[in-house]
Amino acid sequence: MIIDAHAHMITAGMFKGMAGARPRNVPQKMADSLQHSVSENTGAWLEAMDRLNIEKTIFMSTASLNDEFASFINSSERFVGFARMNPTLPDAVDTLKKEMAMGMKGVKLYATSGEFNVGAREAWPFYEYCEKNEIPITIHFGVTIGPTADLYTGNPIHVSRVLSEFPELKVAIAHFGAGFFREALMLKYKRENLYIESSGTNNWLPHQDNFLTLKDIFRKSVDVFGIQHVMFGTDTRIFPDGYREHILKQQQEILKELNLRESETEDIMYNNANRFLGLHK
Ligand SMILES: [Zn+2]
Repeated sequence: MIIDAHAHMITAGMFKGMAGARPRNVPQKMADSLQHSVSENTGAWLEAMDRLNIEKTIFMSTASLNDEFASFINSSERFVGFARMNPTLPDAVDTLKKEMAMGMKGVKLYATSGEFNVGAREAWPFYEYCEKNEIPITIHFGVTIGPTADLYTGNPIHVSRVLSEFPELKVAIAHFGAGFFREALMLKYKRENLYIESSGTNNWLPHQDNFLTLKDIFRKSVDVFGIQHVMFGTDTRIFPDGYREHILKQQQEILKELNLRESETEDIMYNNANRFLGLHK
């Protein structure tokens, strides 16, 4: 069985509510892909998940307190929702409580949105609440969010002090750090509850000053993060192109080439996401 630790569901309404979205510049293909109802999304996702043996998928919201996203998440027990948050806002904890009441199970922080710095002191009450209530946080650092990505706030090092201050807080770095792989590896030093995930096309690789392949990245992640802290993901949005099966196949192929034991492959493909969610001890 598989858990996809990072995917998206976006409707036209959600897109409008996205901070930084510039509707005028939306390519036609993207605009068309947003014209699907919540139930169409549910159907397409369940079809793909059944076909590919994916038990659960974690969906990262792109809009805050969004009814369409919540109704999607609540349309199947196999969908896990992560709320989009700005942790530095004075009402962040209250907003998070509302998100949890709407069915969310974790938080997604877009560190590269330029709206906030994940390490800011203003965010600490939020992290304290997440730690106490075992709410996992996935953070998008790095380059892959597109031309609007703000690398100034997008460096994983910003979360370093948060991890020392809140040692039980579960944090996952999305997309292998999307260019900040070196920083992600440093950040893992003596940090038990830090995870890394593989989602996306990994198109940040050519922007590195070295010649690491995706296989090297997987191997190094397993060495440094440990076999129980690396998670599989695809960053799929199901419309218009369907589930990102090529990414699933590519990463499964790499895990085979790494000669991992079956139980180790299972950790990456399945168990670790459950650990991250607090469902597997
Ligand atoms: Zn994503």
